[in-house]
Amino acid sequence: LRRFFNPLEDIAMFYNSFQSGTAALEKLSGVLQEANELPEPADPKPLPSPLQGRVSFDNVTFAYPKRESDASSASGVEAEAEDIGTGGKVILPLLDLQVPAGQTVALVGATGAGKSTLARLLCRFYDPQDGAVRVDGVDVRDLKDGDLRRAVVMVTQENFLFAGSVADNIAFGRPDAGRAEIEAAARAIGAHDFISALPDGYDTDVKKRGGRLSAGQRQLVAFARAFIADPAVLVLDEATSSLDVPSERMVQRALRTILADRTALIIAHRLSTVEIADRVLVMEDGVIVEDGAPAALLEAGTGRFAGLHEAWRESLV
Ligand code: ADP
Repeated sequence: LRRFFNPLEDIAMFYNSFQSGTAALEKLSGVLQEANELPEPADPKPLPSPLQGRVSFDNVTFAYPKRESDASSASGVEAEAEDIGTGGKVILPLLDLQVPAGQTVALVGATGAGKSTLARLLCRFYDPQDGAVRVDGVDVRDLKDGDLRRAVVMVTQENFLFAGSVADNIAFGRPDAGRAEIEAAARAIGAHDFISALPDGYDTDVKKRGGRLSAGQRQLVAFARAFIADPAVLVLDEATSSLDVPSERMVQRALRTILADRTALIIAHRLSTVEIADRVLVMEDGVIVEDGAPAALLEAGTGRFAGLHEAWRESLV
């Protein structure tokens, strides 16, 4: 099976459903340029049932595969799976992180701190050079691709919508879902009202005139897609672009719904998101430098989270 290099992992949500076959692949064919293969396990292990969603990074060391064009532009990423481990710069020197099932973890820190890298390892876009990433104690390298994609779903900044109806876009989270389930997911997320108000309701083509969705609406469709997929572990790369106040409220409400009863790692860019997290991890140069409940870090942290928190608050006034 294929795996994608950054930035193509923006289509991770699609990837979740690749087993659904060629229609999905055709929709993507305009997007796929580079693909990499990580080996499927020879002797795959089953995920425990029911899945809890406990996540662990056990002494993980990671460097991106070195590429020829390191000094040049970000496009033209080319690497072979065999190159992994051959001397790129170490991004995560030694990451040890245990996330209990159901916890909402916000990852914060400056650009380049390693937040996305951590998220990519959990989704197995890359394998670590050392240590292991585990879900419910099972090394993600020992999971069949489909099992991992069902267990861990990533929602990215660019909520990738394909040309097709709103219903199809939501159902991509679970291709066998019928209209009733699609609508139920949209209602749960708080997207039903705006979808119903579109020219053709759920059948509105999101790429056609009249079907264009706002940033907040796209985010909700992406949440509905993840909601219907119902993974034990959700990885969310929150959009950096700001939303107007009503949209922000809508998205926050939807976020609470989607975070319930699952483990979540959120690359957080909003104060409101950090405040609903059970736990905040501040990353700096690939290292977790603060780890705790947001309130606790404000009171007794090293001041890094407190500093970020202050900056966020100021940006709101
Ligand atoms: P953050 O998400 O916190 O902004 P990243 O995980 O994206 O940080 O980046 C951490 C480091 O890894 C940065 O130095 C960045 O330049 C590097 N990096 C990110 N993606 C790649 C890649 N595909 N190949 C090589 N280096 C990368």
